[in-house]
Amino acid sequence: MDRLLSGIKKFRLEVLEEQEDFYESLRREQHPHTLFITCSDSRILPSRITGTNPGELFVVRNVANIVPPYRVTDEYVATTSAIEYAVKALKVKHIIICGHSNCGGCSASLHQTAEKMDLPHTQRWLELLDEVREKVVALEKEPLIQEVMMEEANILAQLENLRTFPEIKEREERGEIDIHGWYYDIGTGEVLEYIEDLGKFTVINEIE
Ligand SMILES: [Zn+2]
Repeated sequence: MDRLLSGIKKFRLEVLEEQEDFYESLRREQHPHTLFITCSDSRILPSRITGTNPGELFVVRNVANIVPPYRVTDEYVATTSAIEYAVKALKVKHIIICGHSNCGGCSASLHQTAEKMDLPHTQRWLELLDEVREKVVALEKEPLIQEVMMEEANILAQLENLRTFPEIKEREERGEIDIHGWYYDIGTGEVLEYIEDLGKFTVINEIE
């Protein structure tokens, strides 16, 4: 806890004071350009890896960066409501699904470990990846390759799930919103984007 307390003090002293006007401008409103959907994994810092400032990314995080398919429901739906708000109220221009390497959620789905670990809600949540898992398992690849395939296939499945939101589909067709699938490689910092024409993920932050 001390670490966090010294961190929030340091933030006020070193960051906020330095950029007082900027933070003051954020006080009453936000106009994020991008809805960034990623995993809850502690190793992913969306604003750090993208070099963006407060106010730019509207971030939705959950285990394995899943977008449940659109449905009308009276359940309490965190991810669905956050997406709805970002698209309809904040009118974001871009949506990024950012999956990542060594994803515990994808691995738990792939190996069906949530039940054994007594994580009933995680197990239920990961049922949303059942179709993805079945497709990947059917390919019978080496374990490490299978992990990556699961992580990548998950991103593609979530891109499709985004398009089940009527508002997103319509806005995409009108050219008002664009949707990207990213894969963040923890350790190398590489970000790969799924390029539809090529049918594969390609590094988009190549350095010389
Ligand atoms: Zn993850």
